[in-house]
Amino acid sequence: MMIFLGVISLSAIILDGNQIGAEIRQKVKRDIQDLKEKYVMTPGLAVIIVGENPASKVYVGRKHKACEETGVHSEVITLPEQTEQIQLLEIIEKLNNDIHINGILVQLPLPAHINTEVILESIRPDKDVDGFNPVNAGRLFIGQEGLVPCTPYGIIKMLEMSGIPIAGKRAVIIGRSNIVGKPMAMLLLARDATVVICHSKTKDLPSITKEADILIVALGKASFVTSDMVKKGAVVIDVGINRLPSGKLVGDVNYEEVKEVASFITPVPGGVGPLTISMLLYNTVQATKMQHSASW
Ligand code: NAD
Repeated sequence: MMIFLGVISLSAIILDGNQIGAEIRQKVKRDIQDLKEKYVMTPGLAVIIVGENPASKVYVGRKHKACEETGVHSEVITLPEQTEQIQLLEIIEKLNNDIHINGILVQLPLPAHINTEVILESIRPDKDVDGFNPVNAGRLFIGQEGLVPCTPYGIIKMLEMSGIPIAGKRAVIIGRSNIVGKPMAMLLLARDATVVICHSKTKDLPSITKEADILIVALGKASFVTSDMVKKGAVVIDVGINRLPSGKLVGDVNYEEVKEVASFITPVPGGVGPLTISMLLYNTVQATKMQHSASW
């Protein structure tokens, strides 16, 4: 007979983004097969990259590979750093009118001489698979169907597929970017969470984060969230990707500490990251369906 002495401390359940991302891709694959069989349609995605940013090249390479594996027709358009804004706009206009392309993504960041807002606005809203066009941002804001930014949408899928309730929960988001923080807030609000958005000017951040049932962290500062900022049993989602001088990738959450307090936690790498590309494929299929439906 074994006798346990002392307190058993349970560490958080790890939310596995690779596994959940793979499940989403399986669904996308089935949807693509369906579109091919019933409507003789293959979703097509064009990704434009301007310049030589090494991280952007890696991301674009991953997106192209994921398309090939899932059955999405993929075109990568590589443009030199000195490309003029007008040239980029002309390429986007061609893709807007190309019937073989259902999704258009311009890899960010763009070189400083190009106005990112103008470029994002030029993408046809029903081909805007990143969901950054003001039309899609507005649709999300007022609760209408549209294309939703991949990272926050992936987080929602992760919570839902893991059986984590959202309605009535207190959700705190650190970060108010247009890419993660703001759309995340809208998606959680639409699912009946009580949402607080924190940012660089927020006073006494720990007193707010400690109230969170669901804490989403997206500020881009390595290991910023420590265990004393987290309520016992909270669900902690780490969006951050930070490379340390040693080359190691870490999130915005001090994982080793916080996993002893949280009920669920995402690791970095292997948490939110893999969901983002899965949701890009998902959005490309959604865009294809929207372009062939009367409701859009
Ligand atoms: P951003 O730089 O646009 O925004 C950062 C936000 O954090 C700002 O709103 C700022 O007000 C807030 N902030 C900064 N310092 C703060 C502080 N001390 N206290 C509270 N808030 C503070 O960043 P972003 O584009 O939203 O990205 C955030 C992180 O998420 C980055 O590490 C980025 O690499 C990562 N990211 C990951 C994915 C993914 O697929 N996993 C996708 C997008 C972004």
